[in-house]
Amino acid sequence: MTVLVVGSVNADLTVRTARIPAPGETVLGGDAVTSPGGKGANQAVAAALAGAPVALIGAVGQDTFRDVALRGLQGAGVNLGGLLTLDAPTGLALITVSAQGENAITVASGANAHLTPAHLPEDLGGVSHLLLQQELPPEVTLHAARQARAAGVPVLLNAAPTRDLPADLLGQVTHLIVNEHELTALRPDGGTLERQAASILARGPQAVTVTLGAQGSLTVTAQGSHRLAAHPVQATDTTGAGDTFCGVLAARLAAGDPLPAALRAAGIAGALACTRPGAQDAMPRWAEVQAVLA
Ligand code: ADP
Repeated sequence: MTVLVVGSVNADLTVRTARIPAPGETVLGGDAVTSPGGKGANQAVAAALAGAPVALIGAVGQDTFRDVALRGLQGAGVNLGGLLTLDAPTGLALITVSAQGENAITVASGANAHLTPAHLPEDLGGVSHLLLQQELPPEVTLHAARQARAAGVPVLLNAAPTRDLPADLLGQVTHLIVNEHELTALRPDGGTLERQAASILARGPQAVTVTLGAQGSLTVTAQGSHRLAAHPVQATDTTGAGDTFCGVLAARLAAGDPLPAALRAAGIAGALACTRPGAQDAMPRWAEVQAVLA
């Protein structure tokens, strides 16, 4: 059954510099590198590489960045029948990375910001799981979540990047995935991480997963909490680890894995993505994850 991603599609334009420019300053950098990005596209690619049939609903423009933005989706075999070409520029992330490894990112949302609920299909036939992030207009994300819940389709929401998460959206979510920073932004009750995550369950989701980088992940459900250690790797670039985790989690749930097995595969995939540079380019194929699971 298909994983449907309703999410952002961007081209990333990255320049390495000695340091991040201060306001008003110009800094000379290395060659500009273009790569496909956007949290929606990243997660769709991760899910497809993990073996799931994946469809993406999103929007791009008709400019030259369109081809860059779609490269990974096309390569991974994501169904782009629901992709819209709008009269707006393709979303573009301008990324500066300093020699110290800091980054500064400016996102020009472009076509992503022009999506409306009217662009979404009415029929979710064949969809087993809906995977959402927070880079589209909130009313589009909410509409998609409501449609899925009405059709009995579980909704996974990666509440990233950090922005206001309306209570009515959270109320539609089956499984919420956040990192520690994003969890804090939800103003959970205090106490241990387990208690904080558990306090979010009262707002709607049946499961809350907090990803913890090299510390792995924590998942709470009504049945209790479940800590999962990270798969140990030599991490060289953690870009896209969270997107890989979310995409693979959805793919494995769609394949019928029970939650603990799906979380384990997602964690391994997230770890493997840290061993290579880039976002979509670093994502593992299912055979690599399986080799670790075996
Ligand atoms: P985000 O990119 O959203 O901040 P995380 O950094 O928490 O997300 O990474 C998502 C998942 O990827 C983690 O839960 C973990 O399973 C895996 N992961 C991330 N960084 C590492 C690492 N350094 N070593 C091993 N696994 C990692």
